[in-house]
Amino acid sequence: MRFVHDSLPQRVCFASGEAAAHLSSEIANLRASKVMVLAAKAEEDIAGTITQELPVALRYDDVVMHVPVEVAERARDAAAKAGVDALVSVGGGSTTGLAKAIAMTTGLPIIAVPTTYAGSEATPVWGLTEGARKTTGTDPRVLPKVVVYDAALTVTLPVPMSVASGLNALAHCVDAMWGPKADPINAAFAAEGIRSLRAGLPKVVTDPFDLDGREHALYAAYLSAAAFASAGSGLHHKICHVLGGKYNLPHAQTHAVVLPYVLAFNGPAAPEAEHRIAAGFGANRAIDGLQDLRRELDAPRALRDLGFTEDAIPEAADAILPAVPPGNPRPVTAEDLRGLLRAAWSGVDPRESPPARSE
Ligand code: NAD
Repeated sequence: MRFVHDSLPQRVCFASGEAAAHLSSEIANLRASKVMVLAAKAEEDIAGTITQELPVALRYDDVVMHVPVEVAERARDAAAKAGVDALVSVGGGSTTGLAKAIAMTTGLPIIAVPTTYAGSEATPVWGLTEGARKTTGTDPRVLPKVVVYDAALTVTLPVPMSVASGLNALAHCVDAMWGPKADPINAAFAAEGIRSLRAGLPKVVTDPFDLDGREHALYAAYLSAAAFASAGSGLHHKICHVLGGKYNLPHAQTHAVVLPYVLAFNGPAAPEAEHRIAAGFGANRAIDGLQDLRRELDAPRALRDLGFTEDAIPEAADAILPAVPPGNPRPVTAEDLRGLLRAAWSGVDPRESPPARSE
């Protein structure tokens, strides 16, 4: 074995029903006295309950998915005006993303309380959109200092969103297996993430209030994001980044739909990854394990159901091609991408009709 692995400096506090207590002690550790609490209107009640004991200077709810630049600037102005010294974000990736946009220019510490499985809390990656263009970058200042996981806060996440978000986490794990900086440590995180999602997500669907299922999914969300942050974006994330940014498709659902097509494409060319993913699912083949889970969860199936149109396929393939990581397990042509996108658009099982190859 020969590798170089960077671990990210972050404290992780995990306990159901203890977010309020963890927040109080972590804010005291930071010696913060003017806290900005960021939470979208939908998560206002959750945030209110767990931040009651904090020295809150500002509550802020202007959260928009993909963080439009003007939304980020308004939030930065509000933070400066209130003179805050710490940020507490309570919500999904959109809310964490807004806190990151503030931290990026101010250096303010973030304590993130995630309520979905998007995983933004465990990465130093920020994202901003200007018009239809999404820009992302990496900056150690945006990595939350502390993550407070409390599965009890996630029981209200509707089942379809829980499924899509859980498959978004699964996509982090699978793509980490062949990301540009994949190594045995991030692969171990990813493999355990797959195992824990396989165990937890069916329980969430059967009973959204089952804390055991929610805890497995939330624990996996951390592992998946830490693996992904370390391994970097593979083919799957490059495809979803273009689809989300250019065609404004919903983030988690797009990941949920595209994943089987990328796994069917890359898996046979990456035997070690294929083996580890299959083992995580407890299946003989990785794609069978994924498709069995997707069927059990009644996962989103086709890009056409998300608003992506067939006539956009050639343009999307051309936009993705230059972003394909050079170290992808197998070479990727524009025709491969068109075939993959067409299959994902239609929702056909990739085992029945593998994306067309140009060879
Ligand atoms: P989101 O944050 O927009 O949340 C999705 C929906 O779920 C929203 O309507 C929200 O109000 C609702 N919700 C969240 N928690 C809830 C709860 N406990 N109960 C009921 N409803 C709840 O979506 P997301 O998928 O979590 O995040 C997507 C965004 O995060 C995208 O912009 C994506 O680019 C970004 N992201 C960034 C990174 C990164 O590393 N920077 C990683 C993953 C995702």
